[in-house]
Amino acid sequence: MTERQTPAIVLTVREYGEADLLVTFITPGQGRLTGIAKHARKSRRRFAHCLEPLSRVVFFLSPRTGRDLEFLQKGELVQSFPSLRRDLPRLGAAAVLSEVAGLLAGPPEAIGEIFASLEAALALLDQGLPPDSMLPAFLLRLLTLGGYGPRLGQCLKCGQEPAPPLWFSVPRGGVLCGACRLEVPGPLLSLNLGTWKLLRLAQGMPREKLSRLRFPRPQRDQSLAVFKAFLFHHLGRGLKSWSFWEKVTEK
Ligand SMILES: [Zn+2]
Repeated sequence: MTERQTPAIVLTVREYGEADLLVTFITPGQGRLTGIAKHARKSRRRFAHCLEPLSRVVFFLSPRTGRDLEFLQKGELVQSFPSLRRDLPRLGAAAVLSEVAGLLAGPPEAIGEIFASLEAALALLDQGLPPDSMLPAFLLRLLTLGGYGPRLGQCLKCGQEPAPPLWFSVPRGGVLCGACRLEVPGPLLSLNLGTWKLLRLAQGMPREKLSRLRFPRPQRDQSLAVFKAFLFHHLGRGLKSWSFWEKVTEK
């Protein structure tokens, strides 16, 4: 039997036993996987520069399949995105996007595009595009691909184009007219018209064009407040990377 190889983006790496490393990574074919790199703490030769979170690599996996745990034979680095690692807000945005991509990479028809979107976002952050804009635009894309796309086009209650003042229902994941909001259970978050327009624009855009969007600070803050509450509601917990993002971007 021959080993299998797959493109991968490393999500987390932690020590395992005496000499091994346990690696979670996202792939375009199978979504999120966990693999063990035997003896990788003693000799990193087989994994030169490959076992760093956020690196785009190729992993060679043992031919055994159908297990919960993959065995990593070796890895080859494709792109380490060095510039994004030297800037804390860019690193924070990349960490949030990779954690969310790993959590949402479930639907088989979507995992290829979730992988491609994460890879594109890391490349754009590495090129210096602003994390304030890349984070909300790509978070919305990952949520939509993963089956958690917020409903922004019509009011959840009346089905019409929502009339301001706009609200976002966290449990229902969509937008509401001011007049309809009392009929839908909360929590509700206020959404200003500018934020709503930007998010609608982002949701309808192909991946290649997302780099053109710019979220001014108030729209960034409001979009991220909505996504944070929405993710918390659906996951039942906060994201580890979100605290890091908030720490490195607080005023
Ligand atoms: Zn309505």
